[in-house]
This record gives sequence, structure tokens and C-alpha cells, in this order.
Amino acid sequence: MPRDRTYSNLTVNRSDYEKLRKEYDKLKLDQSLNTWIMDIAFSGLVRQSYTLDMEERFIMADLKDEGFAFLDKKNKELVQIKLEKGVLYCSIHKNEPCDHKIFASMNPKFNG
Ligand SMILES: [Zn+2]
Repeated sequence: MPRDRTYSNLTVNRSDYEKLRKEYDKLKLDQSLNTWIMDIAFSGLVRQSYTLDMEERFIMADLKDEGFAFLDKKNKELVQIKLEKGVLYCSIHKNEPCDHKIFASMNPKFNG
């Protein structure tokens, strides 16, 4: 009997999966979790490509509960980006739109 190669059997950490499943279910989306994960993964590739292109301008550090910090080499500025009550905040531009927020929000590792 030939093997069905239509789908892959992806192995993930059970604890992480269960945490993700719980948060995903809260969103009540009309999409399976697996399909959603693949959509997010493809989107993440685009985002990662963007951030790799921007690495000549920014050096980034993950501050855990305090968001991201990065050095803007173009403007010689040290910037902190974080989520405050669901709104992106930049230590330089406050709540105004800026390249720093775009860079942080496009980075797949940024989670607030
Ligand atoms: Zn900014």
C-alpha cells in the first residue's frame, strides 16, 4: 500500500501545543488550527525576510516582559518597543507611527 504523502506528521512540544490550542480556541476562528498555523508560518517567512533585510539598520534585543530594544544605526538611537494595553509603544515616537514599530511588528519573534 503506497504511503499518503499529502500531509506531513509534524512533531511539536505537547505543552506548547496545548497552550497554543487553548489561546487559539479563545479566538473562535472559522479555520482549523493546522490551517491557521500554516498561514501564520507563511506570513512569518515574509516577515522574517523583511527583518533580515532591515538588519543593516537595526540591531535588536529581546527584553522579555519589557518588549524589544534595538539600536537604530541610521539615526544613532536606542529604542524600546512594547505592547501597552494592546497598543504598540515606541520610547521615542510614543504612540505615533514610526519605522521602529513597523520593524518590531514585522519581526516574527516580537510578541509584545
Ligand atoms: Zn519609533
